[in-house]
Amino acid sequence: MAIVSSGPQSQGRPEATPPPRRLLDPAAAEVPAEPQELVVREDSLRPKRLDDYIGQGELKQVLRIAVEATRARAEALDHVLLYGPPGLGKTTMALVLAEELGVRCRITSAPALERPRDIVGLLVNLQPHELLFIDEIHRLNRVAEELLYPAMEDYRLDLTVGKGTTARTRSLPIAPFTLVGATTRAGALSSPLRDRFGLIQRLEFYGLEDLQAIVLRAAGLLDVRLDAAAALEVARRCRGTPRIANRLLRRVRDVASVRGHAAVTAALVHEALSLHRVDGRGLDAHDRRLLTLMLEGYGGGPVGLDTLAAGLGEDPATLEAVVEPYLLQQGLLQRTPRGRLLTEAGRAHLAAAGPVAATPAAGERP
Ligand code: ADP
Repeated sequence: MAIVSSGPQSQGRPEATPPPRRLLDPAAAEVPAEPQELVVREDSLRPKRLDDYIGQGELKQVLRIAVEATRARAEALDHVLLYGPPGLGKTTMALVLAEELGVRCRITSAPALERPRDIVGLLVNLQPHELLFIDEIHRLNRVAEELLYPAMEDYRLDLTVGKGTTARTRSLPIAPFTLVGATTRAGALSSPLRDRFGLIQRLEFYGLEDLQAIVLRAAGLLDVRLDAAAALEVARRCRGTPRIANRLLRRVRDVASVRGHAAVTAALVHEALSLHRVDGRGLDAHDRRLLTLMLEGYGGGPVGLDTLAAGLGEDPATLEAVVEPYLLQQGLLQRTPRGRLLTEAGRAHLAAAGPVAATPAAGERP
């Protein structure tokens, strides 16, 4: 199976992937810039087959059955929508599906499909049964979305040729293919698009045991000697997210090599990640600042998302899609109809972690 990243679309992309802003940002690539670089860089650690894909039991079960049935019928796999927070393995799963089906996977993202010809170019070049992975699919523009409807339903492109009174619609058959869409915001997808996916699956944050296994697997691939207790310490701090686990492991590896340690222990993980101000629960200064702002600025809330975002100099959508999910999952804050509320657990965590300035220090990211 080959990974083919969409080429021409990468130029002049309207909104490039933002650079990594913090060690714990699940959306940030190790090397920012173009999505294909991210794919290549992260490729070395990606599981290739369903059996190597750790955790997400229900997702794997559903997809395994779909893959087997598809193979038996020699058809294209039904279209798949994967949703959930960034860094949980959506791209990886698309590549695994392609590997299991023995076909190529073309990778692109919605912001790269700005012009109709971008998506038309991709669709007409697909070979039978290939996968087309579109990341951030909730950001597709209407024209691209409308081109996708007949393509997904009938493997057909409806193109308008000519202009004005001479304009005609021409239908062009395309190869039967599988669209794998990924999004962090399933609710932002239009319902006609959502309805065209045969399989809609949510990815969950990973449990400690799965994360520990992911860290041990990655350590093996990166040639880092690390015991089970050290892997558990990394697992505790990675916000349920494999991408962060891999990133933290790289930082721990740096400290181990600079200090001349041949093997990584739990104490070394603690020391290395404290350097980056990542606490034992995987919160960094930025999270603690959010919680502190809620406590000191608004008595624990309820306080609106926009108000919090403005106070932190953050984009509300990023706060909601990237920062909040883990804090919600940990029960440190709550969403209520009147705004965000700091929970007892949130207050206790702040009390244990010590005060953090609610405004960023000089040179720190907002
Ligand atoms: P997403 O597309 O959801 O943002 P990715 O598929 O790019 O996330 O995953 C990020 C990284 O996490 C990958 O490089 C991969 O190595 C690792 N990863 C994700 N899911 C798993 C898993 N189930 N088992 C092992 N590693 C994983």
